[in-house]
Amino acid sequence: MFRLSFAPTYCRLALLASIAAVLISAPALCQTAAPAAVPAAQELRVFDPSLVDKMVDPCQNFYRYSCNGWFKRNPLPADQTRYGRFTELYELNRLHLKAILEAAAVPAPGRSANEQKIGDEYASCMDTSAVDKLGLAPLQPELDRIAALKTTAELPALLAHLHSIGVNAFFGMGSNQDFADSSSVISFYDAGGLGLPERDYYTRTDAKSVEQRQQYVTHVSKIFMLAGEPEAQATKDAETVLAIETSLAKATLTITEQRDPQNLNHPTDIADLEKTLTHFSLAEYVAAAHAPTSGRANDMEPKFFAEFNTLVADTPIAQIKAYLRWHLLHAYAGTSLPESFDHENWYFYSHILNGAEKQQERWKLCTMRVDRELGEALGQVYVAKYFPPSAKQHALEMTLAIEQAMDKDIDGLDWMSAETKVKAKEKLHAVMNKIGYPDKWRDYSKLEIVRGDALGNQMRAREFEQARDLAKIGKPVDKGEWMMTPPTVNAYYDPQMNNVNFPAGYFQPPFFSDKEDDAANYGDMGSTIGHELTHGFDDEGRQYDKDGNLKNWWTKDDEQNFNQRAECMVKQYDAIEAVPGVHLNGKLTLGENLADLGGLWLAWEAWLDKAAAEHVDMAAKTDGYTPEQRFWIAYAQQWCTQTRPEQLRSQAEGDPHAPDEYRTNTVLQDLPEFAKSFSCKKTAAMVSAKPCRVW
Ligand SMILES: [Zn+2]
Repeated sequence: MFRLSFAPTYCRLALLASIAAVLISAPALCQTAAPAAVPAAQELRVFDPSLVDKMVDPCQNFYRYSCNGWFKRNPLPADQTRYGRFTELYELNRLHLKAILEAAAVPAPGRSANEQKIGDEYASCMDTSAVDKLGLAPLQPELDRIAALKTTAELPALLAHLHSIGVNAFFGMGSNQDFADSSSVISFYDAGGLGLPERDYYTRTDAKSVEQRQQYVTHVSKIFMLAGEPEAQATKDAETVLAIETSLAKATLTITEQRDPQNLNHPTDIADLEKTLTHFSLAEYVAAAHAPTSGRANDMEPKFFAEFNTLVADTPIAQIKAYLRWHLLHAYAGTSLPESFDHENWYFYSHILNGAEKQQERWKLCTMRVDRELGEALGQVYVAKYFPPSAKQHALEMTLAIEQAMDKDIDGLDWMSAETKVKAKEKLHAVMNKIGYPDKWRDYSKLEIVRGDALGNQMRAREFEQARDLAKIGKPVDKGEWMMTPPTVNAYYDPQMNNVNFPAGYFQPPFFSDKEDDAANYGDMGSTIGHELTHGFDDEGRQYDKDGNLKNWWTKDDEQNFNQRAECMVKQYDAIEAVPGVHLNGKLTLGENLADLGGLWLAWEAWLDKAAAEHVDMAAKTDGYTPEQRFWIAYAQQWCTQTRPEQLRSQAEGDPHAPDEYRTNTVLQDLPEFAKSFSCKKTAAMVSAKPCRVW
């Protein structure tokens, strides 16, 4: 987990860039909310013929053909920025978690230690009158610390403390596997310190981006005013925040550059890093952070740290204090501070940036918060109730079948040499499959949760997490660790661990069902399993060897062949104009697009083999569709999604995943097997004249 501070603090669920997940990255997930009525699990189907719109020609627009029925049934609710089938299950899961948390919140004797923690944390978060009544008081000691800063010589100790309580000021520091030696956990220093979602928000010059920056300054100044600053001072301080963050942003790699691990690999040791920071004592910082004071480290973005060093020297102390104050307030503005902060936070990040029209209900925010802070305590109860061993077994069987399909696929590649094929297979056979939940649960016994102390709980939870992360440095790698909690509706591949991870929350309708046949399950969940597996071999993942070391195992020719084929997809997605004036970024989305196409192909191959072995009658129709047609429709229906234009814009600009329509149509256009199943003519919109193909 190496993008330490990449995730904006308003949305801690944000997926770290090092792990390649199947879904749109988290801001949208964090900001979703339920429609008026959440469908019951039994109503959700993996392949749902009632959603198909027969008025649409499947060869012209397969996404519309498969999803129009769903669109008609699911208008976008006011508190949503994006609502799709993932959200359907996500909302259902939240209801399940709410029931667990409400039961645990009753202070009955006999609650287990974990139940006490999750129940009391949920109750504290829900107690808005206590939060409102306390106001800023619980944060006052922290504000006082910042106010007491006299010179930049005192900054290292203060920053170490702020980092320990989850404040994303200036940079991030944590643990991660060494790129060169994945068996070793070392210190990682990462660029950070931004309040807008990513660096390009500070550098783009189009009218919309200029306006968003003005709105950001207004937001920051409002937060300062809520904290008691007079308006003129608040405005001045907000402008300071934007100026400091703009300097940091300009020295930060773009999100596309960050996708290449070579750009983030700058091995050093703490003593050498210290020498480069002439205006900031790293020795004092690491001592105060209780982090290793010597040893191997990775300076992920040297250009950024050089800029940070200059900024510390050149910025008046009053301005640094304003910047720190903002990041402190920002880090706690969600559910821990009074409603006025919470609302202002929602207004800028969800309404202005992503178009939500209504704030989410409190219980939803509190459920997410407990999942974030105590995810494996909550997850233990969740899997016992909602993840039967049969689902785990079924998921494992599908994963093994898809891995077998990849093995066969590698044999058949005409562009790869025998030498590289041997290495590719070694890597494939070394992939570890993690399904559902951890074998060993995280121990929260040292985390104190006090009923009625929402802010204190959040602060202690963040300190606990930071200490847990730093304690890993110098210890053997724990390959059983999970970066997603069990109820999460998502999945990821970790290139340094070389493992695929499928949380329990995902293995439910509408993505997977024991009651539906293989055509449906392979088209949907199978394509996701294939997607994660293909991440091990996408433009980023392929740079790691079977043990997770950043080490080239490709011959020159094979590398060239791969890049040539990948370039076809870069051009294909670059050409898509997702919103007027904003094209998709083919390089940024390359890894996900490769995984979508490769993953679907692997699921298709695995399913065909299984169907042949089981003598499935491929001409027999169910609900009016052949098994092949149902496979493709099930694939498409997982992506049925309504998206607000603001959200679509943010996604096109900064999400490594293409919008859902293209994850359906563009992927299928590249697969002649799809066109055959629906007898599409060569000239049809759903048939690419020059299909791209890598895996
Ligand atoms: Zn992915």
